[in-house]
Amino acid sequence: QVVTRFAPSPTGFLHIGGARTALFNWLYARHTGGRMLLRIEDTDRVRSTDAAVTAIIDGLSWLGLDADEPPISQFERAARHREVAEEMLARGQAYLCFATPAELEEMREKAKAEKRPPRYDGRWRDRDPAEAPPGVKPVIRLRAPQEGETVVHDRVQGEVRFPNRDLDDFVLLRSDGTPTYMHAVVVDDHDMDVTHIIRGDDHLTNAGRQTLIYRAMGWDVPVMAHIPLIHGEDGAKLSKRHGALGVEAYREMGYLPEALLNYLARLGWSHGDDEIMSIEDMVRWFDVDDVNKGAARFDFAKLNALNGVYMRAADDAQLTDAAMAVREHLPEASPVKAAPDTEAREKLEAAMPGLKDRAKTLVELLDASAFLFAPRPLELDDKAAAILADGGRQIVAALLPRFEAAPDWSHDALEALVREHAEANGLKLGKVAQPLRAALTGRSTSPGVFDVLVVLGREESLARLHDQAR
Ligand code: GLU
Repeated sequence: QVVTRFAPSPTGFLHIGGARTALFNWLYARHTGGRMLLRIEDTDRVRSTDAAVTAIIDGLSWLGLDADEPPISQFERAARHREVAEEMLARGQAYLCFATPAELEEMREKAKAEKRPPRYDGRWRDRDPAEAPPGVKPVIRLRAPQEGETVVHDRVQGEVRFPNRDLDDFVLLRSDGTPTYMHAVVVDDHDMDVTHIIRGDDHLTNAGRQTLIYRAMGWDVPVMAHIPLIHGEDGAKLSKRHGALGVEAYREMGYLPEALLNYLARLGWSHGDDEIMSIEDMVRWFDVDDVNKGAARFDFAKLNALNGVYMRAADDAQLTDAAMAVREHLPEASPVKAAPDTEAREKLEAAMPGLKDRAKTLVELLDASAFLFAPRPLELDDKAAAILADGGRQIVAALLPRFEAAPDWSHDALEALVREHAEANGLKLGKVAQPLRAALTGRSTSPGVFDVLVVLGREESLARLHDQAR
């Protein structure tokens, strides 16, 4: 059975690149009928926080990428990491190194002077620990092969070769008994029965070193798939400006989880020309072998377009729930936020068909819904004010008696009434609809004007029209 894992370090929120890594792991597990596990890599006690753990778990859950088992804390497994290092020591696959900080510093300096990466020179590899200088607490180092090469058969990157002389005898266990990241990851992946490691290609060089640990222990090396990192639109490393934000920021900006997942799936992977893919489609089609080698570029315009598609297709009641959640994050001054919850929900849901057609994000949608909650007399934006000043008020005034006499406040009846008025006065429908919209919403764009009339209701509509009629 396939076992994948997502192994974030809880030093910050679940960022967008991490979310995509989680998605690929989750998709592959679902595709193969396997399991995805979550391991919190919290060995860095200074930088790891509980708030970050919560944010990661919440972010995954919002996206629907929950792990199949409770999360595992790497820190809590320290005794096991130590046990394995000691076993390697006992088997001669690792050795005690008593090099002093000064000696290590000297090696680093030397490497710097020779313009090569620092490398431990193996000075304790064959030395008798009895020769240890007093007072130095040893580290445990891997007895790495010195010749030949280590090959990683990566499902995305292909065959990656590491000359063993570059891999050196790296540290497994520090002198204080804590494991290095390199060591802990291997022990955990082995103990968790991980069969497939899918992670960012910034870990590719670690894969060579980690392979040596697996070999030293006689363990099977999991399948590796190092996926390219996400870059900004300009090809540079993803920065905040490019969208390197936490998943919760996308939530607050008003993206739907399904749209974000669809977008993230296609960053580095695709299935023919399919742009819109349901979760089921992705599960059916996803394979790590099809992930591209080249860096993916994050493109907000594409994400927005996709989100718009998902919003239009969404169920009105569900979309209202999602909008209500995003509403919590609006500034206090927003009339949408000021409205009581029940009123907000009712009005949003009633106006949803017209609202969702025009917005790319829920934040945009809420902004466009402001007319529902605005106090009278409405504040007009510049365009609406110009429309009304430029003959619009007279049109509204001339229409008012017809609205007041309307027997039926339905979309079709209102449309018929406005059409009749336009024809009788030799005006195009748009000429009449524009000032109506301006008077009813204070803006020059809104959902369809007949929908607006219905959603506002007879009383409020008439009051707003009166406010602007001259
Ligand atoms: N904790 C590492 C990170 O957040 C991932 C390690 C791994 O996937 O092997 O980058």
